[in-house]
Formats: sequence, structure tokens, C-alpha cells
Amino acid sequence: MSEAAKPEGERRKFRAIKGTRDILPPDSALWNWFEKTARGVMESYNFGEIRTPIFEETELFARSIGAETDVVSKEMFAWDEGGTGVESELQEYWISKHLDELTKMDRQPIFANRARPDLVVRRSDGVSVVEFKRATVSQATIADIKQYRKVFQEQFPNETSAKLLLVFAEEPSDFVRHLTNANGVEVEVLELPEYEPRQSLALRPEATASVCRAYIEHGMQMRPGDQKLYYIGPMFRRERPQKGRYRQFYQIGAEVLGTSDAPAIDAELIQMLTVLLERCQIEKYTLLINSIGCADCRPKYVELLRAELRKPEIFSKLGADSQRRVETNPLRVMDSKLPEEQAIIEKLPKISEHLCADCREHYDKLKKELKLREVPFTESPRLVRGLDYYMRTTFEITSPILGAQNALCGGGRYDGLVEMLGGPKGIKGIGFALGEDRFIDAIQEAKKIHATRPVDVFVAWMGERAYPTAVRLARVLRGEKHTVELPPEELKFRKALERADKMGARYVLIIGEDEIASDMLTIKRLADGKQEKISEEALVDFFRPPAPTKEGPGS
Ligand code: AMP
Repeated sequence: MSEAAKPEGERRKFRAIKGTRDILPPDSALWNWFEKTARGVMESYNFGEIRTPIFEETELFARSIGAETDVVSKEMFAWDEGGTGVESELQEYWISKHLDELTKMDRQPIFANRARPDLVVRRSDGVSVVEFKRATVSQATIADIKQYRKVFQEQFPNETSAKLLLVFAEEPSDFVRHLTNANGVEVEVLELPEYEPRQSLALRPEATASVCRAYIEHGMQMRPGDQKLYYIGPMFRRERPQKGRYRQFYQIGAEVLGTSDAPAIDAELIQMLTVLLERCQIEKYTLLINSIGCADCRPKYVELLRAELRKPEIFSKLGADSQRRVETNPLRVMDSKLPEEQAIIEKLPKISEHLCADCREHYDKLKKELKLREVPFTESPRLVRGLDYYMRTTFEITSPILGAQNALCGGGRYDGLVEMLGGPKGIKGIGFALGEDRFIDAIQEAKKIHATRPVDVFVAWMGERAYPTAVRLARVLRGEKHTVELPPEELKFRKALERADKMGARYVLIIGEDEIASDMLTIKRLADGKQEKISEEALVDFFRPPAPTKEGPGS
């Protein structure tokens, strides 16, 4: 039986996907109030809004956030798109063109014949080519490549000089070459002739990479002064949903891009956040700051940390994730929330004690600048932040009222990012992203602000003759920016009052037979029931100035 033919109770119902949700009135009024307030605060610091697409090339995120971070390697919503559709023909063509070269190679290129959907394996006159379609190389990719090598070695145990021939759908970046080499995978890279490759696209897990991409694409470094940009919008991460953690969540963020890395920029940005917290009347929060050094001093510290973590008495006490990170990214061990690792982490060397002179000076100045602005902060030597692009200043704001997912906001400096994404040299950057979902939770928990969108006037019309007047006056009042509810069908007087009351209307404009006959209107104030008669001409003046606190905070 078709779904439509089934009785109502048996028809399949749709639900929002796990980790996503609907935001309904009256909650949406609080969201709107918050966004308006955030815009107001950021614009008062001379930030302008930037709107970027919600999807980009996967590699943009892989390269900026880091291919090995959880966000990129596990949590991205990515898919393949486009392409000319004649890839296989081109590939045959390419193989036939290069057959000579390939057969003359002193070692046989290799292959795996257990193709995965994202790998295309072809054979032609005894030569196999693995086209590696993913443009990015992550830990998972490296594992795949190693697996293929293993399969090959099992199949051809006597072949010693085997190399894996990877044909990238796009020109492989230095980054890809570096990562594969660094992981001990010998790679022979050949490029396909020009054709429009299939692109891997992803929903944005954050917006800094997009903002930097847009900055570069539009040559925004040519504009005068630092570019101070903010954004508001949804982000997507395939995380395990739980309270305060969604797969589609909303961030408001700001970035400052320019040639200066003056600590005053960092301090202004952080102060701006505290002003927003103040406007939201969130009093219980902690601002944590740290400096994670630069390309000069951090690698030395990371090595020191790694050496410490490798010590058997320490290594054996770490969980599996941290043990893995000792090799891949030891800084992130500092980030661990595992209770049994906390005592060990406390004793590890702190990056703040290993900063180079420039980074130390930058950090000291930042603290001075924050004090000058009377922004209270707590230093947290463990604050390393999860994304790869950060350097020097990092900060986070947490609130105890949020429970387990207590981070309201995080940010930091990323001076090399624009250049790494192919932009001009010497552009510095700093930014933050705050979790709007969590801000809203914190505002609701603090119970200081109750944004609503009240109805100013409920038009209670009774009788055919009253209706045209009701329609006309509703329009006049809406033109004056009042929120007006006009019932589409006639209601009995008592019913109209009840409904107006339930909606939280401030006034009821009563238009009945008597009002039409006497050419006078009745206005009832619901707060105290006070009622008065006025003429139509006096109506607009009666409600002027417009009723306050529309979408505004009430306490
Ligand atoms: P991040 O980009 O990871 O530094 O996140 C910045 C802020 O976004 C965090 O401090 C959270 O407030 C918020 N956030 C991050 N991931 C999520 C999520 N899955 N659900 C809700 N909020 C999130």
C-alpha cells in the first residue's frame, strides 16, 4: 500500500536528523535577539559582516584545520561532485600514451585489485594504475596506501623494488608529497592530462578557512587597514550528538586579517567577547589564555614534550588516544579530558616556559593589554586548542553553567594560515568562534534575559461591517512597526479576549457594531483591563512612540 493510502497513524513520519534540530518560537526570538546583540557589539568595534558559502573544497579544510585532526579526519560531511564524466576514457588515453614509459620503468608499478569506490584500478597490457581520487591525504588515506602496498607484497613476494603508482586527480600539492613521504610511503606521482576532475566538497565544519579563502580570492589585502570581519551561520560536524553538541550547530565568529600582529588586536577581540557576555548577562564564565609559540619555538617544545611522553613510566599510563598522539601530535595530549591522565599532564613541561623571546614578549604584552582593558583572565598552560593552524595567542571561554560541553567560545592567532592557503606573504590573523547554541543555553540558564516577541495589538473585530475597518487599521498599525494580530475569522468577544491574553498581547483593539455605528474605537489594555474610546484619527498617536522591547530583553 502506498504511504498516502495508509491511515494516519501508520503513515511514516519524518523527524529531524539526529544531531540537528528545529528552533521554534518563542526560542527563535531569543536567537534573533542574541544575533542582533552580537552584530551590535561587533559593529561597534568596526567589524563588517562576511557571508561565505556553507560548502567548500574538502582540501581547503584539510589543509588549514589539519588532515589529522578529528574535525577533518572523522567529522566532515564530504562528497564527490562534478567531473567531466569521461575520466575513464581519458585514463585509457593516458595509459596508452604513457605505456612506453611505464613498461620501460625498471620497476613494475603497482597495484591493488581490490578497488574501493574512491579508487579506480585499471589494467592495460599488464600495467595497472591506481587512480587515487581523494585530493587530500589523511591518516586514513595513509593507512589505505599502506594496505595496498601490503596486498601487493603478498601477491608479488619477489618484487622488492615495488612502488605504488598514484595518479592524483589533481596536481598533488607539496603537502600531499610531504605527508606521504613523511609516512614512509614511497610514492611515484604522475599527473593526468587536463580534464575537469571530480571535486571533493565538504560542508564547512568551521568558517576561518572560508574567510581566509575569500580574503585571498578577493585580494582583500589591497583594502586599507586590517580587515575586521564577522560571520554568523551553521557549521557541520559528524560528531556524536549529545547535550550541547550537535551535528549542525551555529557559530558567530570574527577574524582580523592584516599585516600587524600587535597584541592590542588580540586584546580588543577578547574584550569584544566579554562585552557580548556582559550584554547577555552571563556572569559565570572563565576566560583562559595561553601562548603556544611560533614556528621557531614550538617544534622544539613539541620534541621535548614527545621525549617526555615516550618515557615508559609516562607512556604506559596514557590512554590509547594519547599514546597515538605522542607520535602524531603530542600537543593534543595536553588537551585530554581523561580523568586518569590529568595528574600526568599537570607534571608535563609547559609551553609557556619554552617560548622564544619574541613569543614571550607578545604574550606579556597581551596580558598587559587585557589588564588595561580590565578584562579578567586565567592563564592556562594546557590550552593548546584542537586545530592545527593556531600559533601564539590561544583563548577559550568556558562556563560552569553549561555542564560537560562547557566551552562557549574559542579562538587564537593563525599568522601563517593565509600564506599556507596560497595567499600573500606576511598576512597575520586572529579570530574566534563562539557556539551560538551554547550561548543560548547559557542565557537561558542565567535566567536574566527573556526575549519574546510580544503582540502589540490584537484586533478583535465582530460583524461583517467591522471587518474592512479591521483590515485597514491592522495595515496602518503594522506600517507604524507594531506587531498586529488580525484573526482571519470572526471570534466571539470573550474568545477574542482569551486568545489575545494567551498570545501575551498588550492591547486589544475592539471593533464591533457599536464602534462602527459611533465611529469610535475601543482600546483595552490587557495588563489592567483599562478601556478607553478613541477616534480613528487618534489611533496612531495613541500607540506612539512604538511599544518598546520588541524582540528585546525583558527581565
Ligand atoms: P571550535 O571551532 O571547535 O573551536 O568551536 C568553537 C565553539 O563552537 C565551541 O567553543 C563551542 O561553543 C561551539 N561548538 C563546537 N562544536 C560544536 C558542536 N558540535 N555543537 C555545538 N557547539 C559546538
